[in-house]
Amino acid sequence: MRISLARARLELRHTFRIARSADEFRESVIVRLEENGIEGLGEAAPSPRYGQSAESAERALASIEGALLEPAGHIEDALERAAGRLAGEWAALAALDIALHDLLGKRLGVPLYALLGLDPGKTPPTSYTIGIDTPEIVAEKIREADGFPVLKVKMGLGNDREIMETVRAHTDRPVRIDANEGWTRDEALEKMRWLEGLNVEFVEQPLPAADLEGVRWLAERTSLPIFADESVRVASDVPRLAGTFHGINIKLMKCGGIREALRMIHTARACGMKVMLGCMIESSIGITAAAHLSPLADYADLDGNLLIRNDPAAGATTLNGKLVLPEGPGLGVTLREGPAANALERSSAR
Ligand code: MG
Repeated sequence: MRISLARARLELRHTFRIARSADEFRESVIVRLEENGIEGLGEAAPSPRYGQSAESAERALASIEGALLEPAGHIEDALERAAGRLAGEWAALAALDIALHDLLGKRLGVPLYALLGLDPGKTPPTSYTIGIDTPEIVAEKIREADGFPVLKVKMGLGNDREIMETVRAHTDRPVRIDANEGWTRDEALEKMRWLEGLNVEFVEQPLPAADLEGVRWLAERTSLPIFADESVRVASDVPRLAGTFHGINIKLMKCGGIREALRMIHTARACGMKVMLGCMIESSIGITAAAHLSPLADYADLDGNLLIRNDPAAGATTLNGKLVLPEGPGLGVTLREGPAANALERSSAR
């Protein structure tokens, strides 16, 4: 099997500001696996929150030779071997996992959702994310989110009330809040009590990842469901969160790909928890891979590709906010021609 890598510079439509960071662009590493004339596509969208960068992901992927992933259809075994080499580079692992699933689907001639035995009609709507910004830009983003039935609003930088007032001045659609670990316990309690009356579905990660005691304290005092994002990475993290968080946010880039995401979904279900599928800022390669799993989720926040203006790929789309899966085999993703292709920069072939 032949592996090649390309760096993609994903330009954001707006500066993407959350409680801990602000970005004008994000970099992904696109992986191509080629075997017998069939190409599998994958993407690593590394997160600085987990100590990763495009450089570190690329370096990790460059340590994988094609023979390590053979035979390509034995995905569990191939990923177990790869994981040993990719210590801590979960986005890089996700890229290989996604590409191997794409390759398998193409070889069998079936879309990934069919390979997983899922009904493509059961995809949920995706929320559309409003980053932290001035009232003028927040209003502009709400206009861009027209047609999406749910908004995800980022908080945690001190202007939370101003942002929520702007949102409510423009729309009465339900809102999901994500504080990205940005609140203290007292602040979270005050904000969540205020948010209870504002048509909010749930609050994601109000407190720092390790503060489970704080989440239990909050849950006893507020009625809004609380979802874990930074507090949960893989399936083995899930059981200790049961009874504290109401649900978990699963991201392929955080957990290492489709295989681990499936384990997380089933573990969460066994623990009586809700499941959300989320994303980083990603191209349509990573987003489409997660979208194929979305018939298993209660909620989707798969809008990373919608927040960039030079998506180098085309795959899953939305219709009135609902995710629409492509019909092609594997991921059903194609690389775009023209200006968006400039986002891709071939960095190595081996
Ligand atoms: Mg989050």
